[in-house]
Amino acid sequence: MTTVHAYAAESAGAELKPFEYDLPDIGPDDVDIRVTHCGICHSDLSCIDNEWGMSQFPLVPGHEAAGVVEAVGDRVPSGRVKVGDRVGLGWYASSCMHCRQCLRGDHNLCSSGEATIIGRHGGFADRVRCHWVWASPLPDGLGADIAGPLLCGGITVFNPLVQLGVSPTHRVGVVGIGGLGHMALAFLNKWGCEVTAFTSSDSKRDEALKLGAHRVVNSRDDAALEGEAGRFDLILNTANADLNWGAYLNALGPRGVLHNVGATPNPIPVDPFALIMAQRSISGTPVGSAATIDDMLGFAARHGVKPVTETFKLADVNDALEHLRANKARYRLVLEMERG
Ligand code: NAP
Ligand code: ZN
Repeated sequence: MTTVHAYAAESAGAELKPFEYDLPDIGPDDVDIRVTHCGICHSDLSCIDNEWGMSQFPLVPGHEAAGVVEAVGDRVPSGRVKVGDRVGLGWYASSCMHCRQCLRGDHNLCSSGEATIIGRHGGFADRVRCHWVWASPLPDGLGADIAGPLLCGGITVFNPLVQLGVSPTHRVGVVGIGGLGHMALAFLNKWGCEVTAFTSSDSKRDEALKLGAHRVVNSRDDAALEGEAGRFDLILNTANADLNWGAYLNALGPRGVLHNVGATPNPIPVDPFALIMAQRSISGTPVGSAATIDDMLGFAARHGVKPVTETFKLADVNDALEHLRANKARYRLVLEMERG
């Protein structure tokens, strides 16, 4: 049995405090990762606050872990992952491997999949355990200090490019230039698209252009949004906020898609005619499958797509969470886990 040193919230909205737990003996399909770094996603905050009503306490957040494999179970295929490999772990830590979705390779759509931080303990810790399918090998040249954010934030904005068949000639808008949004700008730029950043933060305007945007629009300026009417093939919403939905739908051209990965607090009201007349649609996706994560990591390594990070020590995790809450992160916060 191994004792894991972690930080946990004891109840909804609580400060994180040092927390220890014992890992049971390793199961045949399990991989234990010695975590060196872990990104902080807005979903960690939402789970600490139990915003989605699914959190279980004590809750160890952290689902952008990167580190080194320390132990593997008997059935873990050594051609995929073995002790000493550098790996990353994102939102999912387990899938059943035998349902229709898993058999199709859509392990991210497994109805009995387990999230890394819901009913399991996550990566704000020196160890984290997962099923081998979710321990993604990191390409050479992608350091553990920046790889973590690609495992949730990165794959969440890369997956729509694959699922929606985005082409290099598409005009794409990204709403919300936070952890997810800033990586979306970089991926879309390298994908070849014309990229427009929609931000509510004036201080991010110039930086968005450096991150990969070709144009920048104020996401809360209704007149500016009206000026974008009919422009986009895809608008990718990464904001965790209610938007002027009518204006964003109107900014789509014919067959345009308003795609949501941000967990907006309220239902999206839709005028059916805004969809019908120009054959527009609204959709959403979770993180990608294990195979799409491999593709994303390879693409990121080849094209030099890297999250822009600020680093905090694990002991300063509460300061980091406040920094993210205040929308001050530029652009993804990463915790250093190594003790002493
Ligand atoms: P984040 O770093 O906090 O970024 C969110 C951004 O949204 C902010 O930086 C801000 O960008 C924008 N925003 C915030 N309040 C706004 C408002 N009132 N109006 C307009 N824009 C606003 O969060 P994140 O980690 O990128 O996560 C974003 C969302 O995605 C969260 O809801 C998270 O739970 C969700 N998520 C979903 C998945 C999935 O599987 N689908 C995976 C990961 C995360 P500007 O300053 O540029 O306006
Ligand atoms: Zn996340």
